[in-house]
Amino acid sequence: MKKEFVVIGLGRFGASVCKELHRLGHQVLAIDIKEEKVNAVLDYSEKAVIADASREEVLKSLGVGNFDYAVVAIGDNMQANIMCTLLLKELGMENVWVKAQDANHKKVLAKIGADRVIQPEYDMGIRAANQMQSGKLQEYIELSEEYSISELDISKRLANKALNDLDIRAKYGCTILAIKNGEKVNISPSAEDKLYEGDMIVVMGKNDDIKRFEEKGL
Ligand code: ADP
Repeated sequence: MKKEFVVIGLGRFGASVCKELHRLGHQVLAIDIKEEKVNAVLDYSEKAVIADASREEVLKSLGVGNFDYAVVAIGDNMQANIMCTLLLKELGMENVWVKAQDANHKKVLAKIGADRVIQPEYDMGIRAANQMQSGKLQEYIELSEEYSISELDISKRLANKALNDLDIRAKYGCTILAIKNGEKVNISPSAEDKLYEGDMIVVMGKNDDIKRFEEKGL
């Protein structure tokens, strides 16, 4: 379903969010205080506006409160970033995603009601480290400090074995959510389903259990 998004602050992060939402077929209202930043996304947005998004009257006149999602990607001015987030929440927006500069900024944003706080460099650093330390890890989603979902390459050793032969839940406490092979995805694998060479499995569990499974079970 098409959703309406407002992207505020069109630096590297905001512009990338804007272009990708546009590519996915969504309507995007793009806002930046600088003309050249706005001009750069004209082809990738429904409407692009030069404005100061930390001012209440600006947000109200653009009808921002009626959008489904807002992304606050103002990075160079923390005060404007915080003010804009606060105003969006006061306008009643339910999905406000905000880019934070550091851990303290993140704390403030959480306190004023940001629904999701992103620290792109920090988050990507963790993801890259996890992918590097395990040659088998393709994707990694942190569900909480304790739990995550990982996408892992299977080894030749597991090829042609059925899931119930491997007994992954009993041995490692991990749940297999899906089996992927290229574009083919089995999203509700049954115990009888077999793994084949080149498959990837999507596994959910405690971080320690997934690590144990990666090291000993794959
Ligand atoms: P990145 O690190 O993702 O490149 P930047 O901090 O360079 O992010 O970019 C932030 C963007 O936010 C800039 O394009 C800047 O012009 C814009 N910006 C800063 N203050 C405001 C504001 N009050 N209203 C709208 N946009 C703003």
